[in-house]
Amino acid sequence: MPEEAFKAILVSRDEDKKQSVAVTELTEADLMDGDVTVAVEATTVNYKDGLAITGKAPVVRRFPLIPGIDFAGTVTASENEEWRRGDKVVLNGWGVGETHHGAYAGKARVKGEWLVPLPEGMSARDAMAVGTAGYTAMLSVMALERHGITPDRGPVVVTGAAGGVGSVAVAILSKLGYHVVASTGRLAESDYLKELGAAEVISRDELSGPAKPLAKERWAGGVDAVGSHTLANVLSMTSYGGAVAACGLAQGMDLPTSVAPFILRGVSLLGIDSVMAPRALRLEAWRRIGSDLDHAKLAALSTTVPFDGIIDAARDIVEGKVRGRVVVEM
Ligand code: NDP
Repeated sequence: MPEEAFKAILVSRDEDKKQSVAVTELTEADLMDGDVTVAVEATTVNYKDGLAITGKAPVVRRFPLIPGIDFAGTVTASENEEWRRGDKVVLNGWGVGETHHGAYAGKARVKGEWLVPLPEGMSARDAMAVGTAGYTAMLSVMALERHGITPDRGPVVVTGAAGGVGSVAVAILSKLGYHVVASTGRLAESDYLKELGAAEVISRDELSGPAKPLAKERWAGGVDAVGSHTLANVLSMTSYGGAVAACGLAQGMDLPTSVAPFILRGVSLLGIDSVMAPRALRLEAWRRIGSDLDHAKLAALSTTVPFDGIIDAARDIVEGKVRGRVVVEM
C-alpha cells in the first residue's frame, strides 16, 4: 500500500547556493532517522523560523530541509521505551528545522530524548502559543530567579516586549509579582502590553542608541530579546548587583558595551540558549509554564494561521510585523 502523503514545506538550495522555499507533499519515507514518529497537530512561527524560510540568516544547514523548530502532536509510532503511540508530546529545538527535518509537515520523526510531555491541562495549540519563544522566556525568568532577582529587588525590563519572547516574558514576570517595564517600538501596542501585565511601557528609542558606560539605575534586571545597543543600554541602567538574561538579537548580534556595569555595579549578564538546553532544564521550564503562566493570556498574545500561511508569517516576523506569537493549526 502506498504511504500516505502529507503536506510539507521544503527549503532547498540551487547550485549557486540560492535558497528557495516551496510547499510540497512528502511521505514518512522522506523523513530522517529517529525512534519516534509524531503526527504534528500544531506548530508555530518563531523569529528563527522566519530567518530559516527567508534565508536571511543561515539557520538551515542541510538541504533540502523541512523547517520549523517547534511542534506539538501525538506519537504515532515509537521504538523508544519512554514513549508510546498516543502520547502527547512537545518538541523545541535540538537542531530540528536546522539540520534535522522539522515541524512544517504533517509528520515528524525525531529522537525520543528530544521530546517532552505536553503539560497537563494544555492543548497542542496552547503549547505552540508558548513555543520556543515562550519557553526561552521561561528559561530567562528562571535564570533571573537563580541569580536572586526577586520582585522585591525592583522593576525588571523586557525588551522586544511586543514580540514572542517579550510577550510571554511580560506575562510570566507579572504573574510572579514583578513590576514589569515593557520596552517596545510599537507604542500603539501599549494596551496589549498592559493587558499582559506590564506596569509601564517605554519606547525602545530610549534604549536603541549608543550606550553610556553607566547610566541612571532604572531596574534590577531584565529579559533582553534584542541585543546590540539595546542590551548595552539595559546593562548600563541595571542597578547594583542586578542581572540581565540575554536571549535574542532582534536589533543585532553585536554588544557595544563596556565592562563598567560588571566591574563597578557587579551586574551579571546571563546567557540563555534554548536549542541545546539539557532535558532536566526543559522539563522544569515546561513545568513552570504549566504553573506560572496565566493560560488565559495565551489567547490574547497569539494569533492563528493555517498551514498555507506559514511562509507569509515567516516574512512578517523578520520584518517585526508580528505581535506576540503565531500558532499554526494543521
Ligand atoms: P519576534 O520577532 O516575535 O520579537 C522580536 C521583537 O524585537 C520585535 O517584535 C520587536 O519588538 C523587537 N525588535 C525587532 N527589531 C528590532 C530592532 N531593530 N531594534 C529593536 N527592537 C527590535 O521574535 P521572537 O520573540 O521569536 O525572538 C526574539 C529574539 O530572541 C530573536 O532574536 C530570536 O532569534 C531570539 N531567540 C533566542 C532563543 C535562544 O535560545 N536564545 C530562542 C528563541 C528566540 P517591539 O515591536 O516590541 O519593539
